[in-house]
Amino acid sequence: MNQQSTELADSLSAGLWVVATPIGNLDDITSRAVAVLGAVDRVAAEDTRVSAQLLAHFGIRKPLVALHDHNEQKAVAGLVHAMQQGERIALISDAGTPLISDPGYRLVRETQNAGLPVIPAPGPSALVTALSVSGIATDRFQFEGFLPAKAGARRQRLQQLADYPHTLVFYESVHRIEATLKDMALHFGSEREVCFCRELTKRFETIRRDTLDVLQAWVAGDADQKRGEIVLVVAGRELEQQKEIPKAARDLFARLRQELPPSRAARIVADTFHCSRRDLYQQGEDQ
Ligand code: SAM
Repeated sequence: MNQQSTELADSLSAGLWVVATPIGNLDDITSRAVAVLGAVDRVAAEDTRVSAQLLAHFGIRKPLVALHDHNEQKAVAGLVHAMQQGERIALISDAGTPLISDPGYRLVRETQNAGLPVIPAPGPSALVTALSVSGIATDRFQFEGFLPAKAGARRQRLQQLADYPHTLVFYESVHRIEATLKDMALHFGSEREVCFCRELTKRFETIRRDTLDVLQAWVAGDADQKRGEIVLVVAGRELEQQKEIPKAARDLFARLRQELPPSRAARIVADTFHCSRRDLYQQGEDQ
């Protein structure tokens, strides 16, 4: 244990420490994450072999306890009991932020329900990393995690999302990436813009923003694009399908707004010019 860990170990409160770990590049771990992992009594991990390697890389030796989707319900009671006795437990996943398409939800909830602290030690997540380099709007987005593996259920979900007006983020496996891009083109339209983010922070990092038809052909023809880990950031419907409002309509809208409530003014102009009220509001604002 280094000095920082020793000092932290003395002051670390009992409870659950939710610690993010790198999604590829090990230098992305925070110094606080290393200190917390070095100071807790035990580490709950999704796959204890993967996490043992990560801890070893940082010179940390801690008892590990498995916490995955298949045993979470059972394991939680024991872990909460241990924390009630004063144990400090860290929760980590194989990579990135625990609970983001990873186990831990029940443990966090039950720890809080027992009146014990749940303390974040934040860090990388593929979701935010992909968004931050996608070049696609990030002011609002919906995280979809993994699409259903079965083709029928996947298509149904994509159909439900086709009109969603803001950015969508998906985690996808290399085994399904071709089928998913094809289904997305079918339901979202081949012109929809998507940022394909593969192997983020790793040696073969690939970030490409393009339309679905271009990405689909590129991935189909390049076996390298079907290796590793992938996030898809998909533009919302609004961006691509917004119709340009004629200047005469925008001028009339601006004039009527001086006399009428904006909703009435918009209804009159939309009816007269057969345009959408939402596009009118947006482009009217831009004037
Ligand atoms: N908890 C993790 C996080 O915070 O991002 C996600 C865990 S989830 C089980 C694993 C999925 O995250 C992968 O299949 C992939 O879609 C995405 N992912 C994780 N690391 C990635 C990386 N370095 N590059 C691209 N996608 C990644």
